Amino acid sequence: MFEKILIANRGEIALRVLRACKELGIPTVAVHSTADANAMHVRLADESVCIGPPAARDSYLNIPNLLAACEITGADAVHPGYGFLSENARFAEILAEHNIGFIGPKAEHIRTMGDKIEAKQTAKKLGIPVVPGSDGGITDDVEALKVAKKIGFPVLVKAAAGGGGRGMKVAHTEADLSMALSTARTEAKAAFGDDAVYLEKYLTRPRHIEIQVLGDGKGNAIHLGERDCSLQRRHQKVWEESPSPALNLEARDKIGEVVAKAMRDMQYLGVGTVEFLYEDGAFYFIEMNTRIQVEHPVTEMITDIDLILEQIRVGAGAELGITQKDLRFPGHALECRVNAEHPITFRPSPGKILHYHPPGGLGVRVDSAVYQGYTIPPYYDSLVGKLIVHGRTRPECLMRLKRALDEFVVDGIETTLPLFRNLVRNQDIIDGNYHIHWLEHFLAEGGMEV
Ligand code: ADP
Repeated sequence: MFEKILIANRGEIALRVLRACKELGIPTVAVHSTADANAMHVRLADESVCIGPPAARDSYLNIPNLLAACEITGADAVHPGYGFLSENARFAEILAEHNIGFIGPKAEHIRTMGDKIEAKQTAKKLGIPVVPGSDGGITDDVEALKVAKKIGFPVLVKAAAGGGGRGMKVAHTEADLSMALSTARTEAKAAFGDDAVYLEKYLTRPRHIEIQVLGDGKGNAIHLGERDCSLQRRHQKVWEESPSPALNLEARDKIGEVVAKAMRDMQYLGVGTVEFLYEDGAFYFIEMNTRIQVEHPVTEMITDIDLILEQIRVGAGAELGITQKDLRFPGHALECRVNAEHPITFRPSPGKILHYHPPGGLGVRVDSAVYQGYTIPPYYDSLVGKLIVHGRTRPECLMRLKRALDEFVVDGIETTLPLFRNLVRNQDIIDGNYHIHWLEHFLAEGGMEV
């Protein structure tokens, strides 16, 4: 097992990793920018090192400073959390060159899945169904039109290096195509320094359903069921739940096994998420994330498995201790991402939290790193915390969520809590009847009452 783990992240995920380390009895090192000197993960870690000024590129993304922090503290492994360096294959290699463990997949798998064109081709080879589209990158507009006509409009132009919904443009008709291509290329170049794009059939009313996997890199891998993340704004997930209201057990087992087999064939190491769009009973692969996801607690609540703890165990070379047959998925779980944003305009609202009272009680979990008197800095993402509820059934879960939302107090800043108070009372949501464009339609039609 590792002797000391450095957590190369901040906020709630740094705290989440720290908790798993404590339970394993492994000493922790927190790193922080000058803006995060008073952060909770710094206060709770055994040691801490300041790695630079507020801008992420100078601190949380600064590889030489992170290496120096490992050296100073004697950390023999790094947990990258999500975001920042978590999907940077070169970072994993540099750590290996310094005999420091990277708690994540093999660098080659990070690299393959980080390029969406290559990821799709790999998925296809492994027997995973993919969205119809171009076979590879598209550089020529004439070629693009040929492919688009073959798969049928509307089509989606996507960036090979994409992430966070950037570099994605829809073309509804032939006339929109060249504009969509050039805008997507420009956006992709600006955001990722790579203007490679590809084409996909644009699905009009799909759900986003993803499968959680865990592998030990030695050919053992399992799936931990699905999460339905269809409620999105600007391709960003807002609410996640498991099981999906749209799937039955047979459908889950079937897609789960296809994915688990692919992970066994790849000898995948660590946790990962294989993302699909689901429409008319069919699954279409869109991408794989080779890291822990923000919404992982939803899976933890229904499987009772600590995903970070398992990630650390297999990262240190242990064999998978759980078999597919051991796994049970009792009850229902649901997560709301509470952001420091205006609930209607979604304008970021950093600042000082004057009063803070998180909800509690049976089946309620809050993963957050804020506290009363804490000031949310303007430099990073705007997540205040994740409210996760668990119940024996979906109606019980919704009842508990309503109660927990009414108890939750965050004063001094604007938050998206009112959005969730609206959603939990909405008939479509109560019926589980929604798809990836539902939330944007709801907001555009002025569905919010504050
Ligand atoms: P990113 O890595 O930028 O998050 P993804 O490929 O994961 O990009 O897609 C993000 C979201 O964009 C999906 O959850 C879905 O809402 C939408 N999306 C992606 N591909 C398609 C498609 N072919 N048709 C319709 N919507 C799509």
